[in-house]
Amino acid sequence: MEKHMAVCPYCGAGCKMNLMVENGRVIDAEGLPGVTNEGELCLKGLYGYDFVNDTRILTPRIYHPMIRRTKGAPLERVSWDEALDFTASRLRAIIEESGPEAVMLTGSSRGAGNEANFVMQKFTRACLGTNNIDNCARTCHAASVIGLMECVGSGAMSVSIPTLEETDCILLIGYNPAASHPIVARRIVRAKERGAELIVCDPRVIESARIADLYLPLANGSNLALVNALAYTIIDEELADFDFIDEHTEGFDDWWEIVQDYAPEDVEGVCGMPAELIRQAARRYATAETAVVGWGMGVTQHAQGVQTVRAIAALALITGHIGKPRSGLAPVRGQNNVQGSCDMGMWPSLYPGYQRVDDPAARAKFAAAWGVLEERLSLEPGWKLTDLPHAVGEGKIRAFYNFGEDPLQTKPDTAQVRRMLESLDLLISQDIFMTQTTALADVVLPATSWAEHDAVYTASDRSFQLTTAALPPKGECRHDWEIFADLSTRMGYPMHYESTREIWDEVRALCPQFAGATYEKMAGTGWAQWPIFADAADDPENHGTPELYAGGAFATPDGKGHLVAAHWRPPTEKPDDAYPLVLCTVREVGHYSCRSMTGNCKALAALADEPGYVSISPADAEARGIDEEELVWVRSRRGKVLARAAVDERVNEGAVYMTYQWWIGKCNELTLHVVDGESGTPEDKYSACEVEAIADQ
Ligand code: SF4
Repeated sequence: MEKHMAVCPYCGAGCKMNLMVENGRVIDAEGLPGVTNEGELCLKGLYGYDFVNDTRILTPRIYHPMIRRTKGAPLERVSWDEALDFTASRLRAIIEESGPEAVMLTGSSRGAGNEANFVMQKFTRACLGTNNIDNCARTCHAASVIGLMECVGSGAMSVSIPTLEETDCILLIGYNPAASHPIVARRIVRAKERGAELIVCDPRVIESARIADLYLPLANGSNLALVNALAYTIIDEELADFDFIDEHTEGFDDWWEIVQDYAPEDVEGVCGMPAELIRQAARRYATAETAVVGWGMGVTQHAQGVQTVRAIAALALITGHIGKPRSGLAPVRGQNNVQGSCDMGMWPSLYPGYQRVDDPAARAKFAAAWGVLEERLSLEPGWKLTDLPHAVGEGKIRAFYNFGEDPLQTKPDTAQVRRMLESLDLLISQDIFMTQTTALADVVLPATSWAEHDAVYTASDRSFQLTTAALPPKGECRHDWEIFADLSTRMGYPMHYESTREIWDEVRALCPQFAGATYEKMAGTGWAQWPIFADAADDPENHGTPELYAGGAFATPDGKGHLVAAHWRPPTEKPDDAYPLVLCTVREVGHYSCRSMTGNCKALAALADEPGYVSISPADAEARGIDEEELVWVRSRRGKVLARAAVDERVNEGAVYMTYQWWIGKCNELTLHVVDGESGTPEDKYSACEVEAIADQ
């Protein structure tokens, strides 16, 4: 039996592990003492490895390229040469007819490395000539990226995951770490054991709420009103750090002009809790010596996601709980390399390293490095991923290159997504499994899985870590970066790399804040946390920057923190007589994303079976005559799905909760495609629905 060092392929906690390999199969996993996990792993890390072995519990792995010669024809196994020549000729024809803006691509944050994503965006920009490249952050933390870049200069966590254990006060808003990032939750439990205060704002009594010092049961869809009310209290009760505001921030007067309308006593009804609870939370956060605010998709997956992130940033700025040790902002990223996808420029307005595509100097630099004319690199930001339904509907996008995503399972309003995918002229899907989306593709390109390639991943807290191949590629699978480079070469822009290290060195050369992150520094359980500049490369003790903005030096153009406020408004689709309940999408600890990986792991698949659950309060269940485990219909204006009732006293009355990973009982058949106007992040946390006992039909 051999041991191979890897980084967990699931969440953004970035846990280090060993994979045990015997006779060409991964047979076990154990934790390693990585910077975030200290030797521990959660359920998914411990039991989520055997999808690599092609268990076929949910869906088979793909081992050969396939093409569909005409719409409606079956997929046909072909050689790599034929598959890539077919893809190149179809893409070329679409670009000749409709221009490069008619092609859209999405990167992969699920086990695909920074190197693969870097090569894909280079193919998009230098070969195809468009900025139409995005990644799954669009549907999770795009709102955090946009809000934080404006307010403090960087869209990432300002603190490290270990900081959560060391701070004096943790304020969680719309974030369920026990389900999303169990190893982060472990840090929070240990902080609590050390005496830190824990304040939890969530409509459900989530695990963290059970151990909280203060639990704020906010009404669904009221985030911005609550955060504004916290800020109001901090100013009203003179708990702010006015010296920090004067010295390090801009925009206080305009910000206060709006926030002064949010006295807790005036928004009790909106937030669904007594004003005194809001005031107590504000006092505890503001008066703590050090404090961190953590948030997740409960904040970002709303039509006011960006505005709420700005409001959260303001909490840190008015209290000075940022720019000093053990204090800051923690938007904890979901998928294992979603931070890395953003780092690598899988973003329609950004090159790798957060360099803007509309900056002529950045364009000149990338054009020179990539050997193309400056005019080849567009100054115009591209389409966002969530623009696809309407852009395809209007004929503006004709081809979609889907790298390791499953939008038919994971994006809101499944019927709309299916119509969109079926009306494309060309759908290319590069994956390891025959997912729902891949089954519709015109071109299927088989790639290596997480255990079959070397790669750098970026954890949620900006830590680059190296994962190494435990197994050789299976069947005819190729490394993702090899596929992109080969296709690019066939389309007239030659790219040749010998290894991921060669690609990573190109990334480091182009991105000053990543320059010190050498493979040597990341070997074993090593890490490198950006920004990490070139002078750190040869210093083994220098792992980069655990906490950003030291001394209040923000990464904004003027070096100041920016206070920006907005008024709360109700969510888009309000409950009514026909659909009286709020449907909110959530995560569960045993499964991940579209379930193609965890659903093919024997131990994890045994945890639950289709159809998925709908969690409902005892009062709402009783009012509808629904018993625990009973099969029910959940319906919305988009459709109806079969689900199993989980009657749960931790669920608030008037709302139900579902996950999107089940093939039967998938909540995205029901969710509404409404997005935040600035980030394009969908309002997955709030649609109107009704639940009915099957016997009533
Ligand atoms: Fe993997 Fe996240 Fe669990 Fe760590 S916490 S083992 S990274 S799923």
